[in-house]
Amino acid sequence: MAAILQTEDLTKSYRIGKIDVPALRGVSLAVERGEFVAIMGPSGCGKSTLLHLLGGLLSPTSGSIVIDGEDISKLSDAKRTEIRRRKIGFVFQRFNLFPTLTAEGNLKLAERIHSGNGGGDAAGRREVLRLLKLEDKMHHKPLEMSGGEQQRVALARAVINSPAIILADEPTGNLDTENSAIVLDMFRKLNKEFSQTIIMITHNPEAAAVCSRTIRMRDGRVDE
Ligand code: ADP
Repeated sequence: MAAILQTEDLTKSYRIGKIDVPALRGVSLAVERGEFVAIMGPSGCGKSTLLHLLGGLLSPTSGSIVIDGEDISKLSDAKRTEIRRRKIGFVFQRFNLFPTLTAEGNLKLAERIHSGNGGGDAAGRREVLRLLKLEDKMHHKPLEMSGGEQQRVALARAVINSPAIILADEPTGNLDTENSAIVLDMFRKLNKEFSQTIIMITHNPEAAAVCSRTIRMRDGRVDE
């Protein structure tokens, strides 16, 4: 089976003044379609840098990234953005919802950004909100919801455009135990029932336990 995502000797250094700070020192990995992968490792080991490269939010210093058959490592920012919008759904630790929009409004906005026009239909949005047990929150704004509900809206927003891959950066980092468990259960459901490919950074062993594989990182490398 072909990998949906593959990197080859990926490196990234950040330039601070005249100094190059290496964050990734050569990461080669492959993720198959339908996998649910946890990325773990100590703070500063390069997890977020890797996730941002995989999602096309950053461009690498060297190495390649192939997503769903497209090499994004040497593209212009504009081309990379376009592929990101088509193929990637992001979930962040701080839910990053638009505070003035309702749950449904946040989904509509994601659809509009994805398609470049009106996009999406009400039935599709309702279906995704139902799946994430948010039907009754459809017309609520983020501040009228609990953290767990907001993160489920963020997850709904990530899946609404049927991305090839969901990339999540500590999605339970701001949640209490109960809400973490609910949100993780939703990730697992999307993975199991819809074969959604998911790559998730986490510090939480319970989160890693619901994944099919854990990649451990240390000092900018994958720890074998
Ligand atoms: P993690 O997500 O595992 O905590 P990061 O990818 O955030 O690790 O960071 C890896 C290394 O890169 C760290 O040494 C960090 O200080 C550095 N780094 C991350 N982002 C930047 C940035 N925007 N500018 C400069 N250095 C950065």
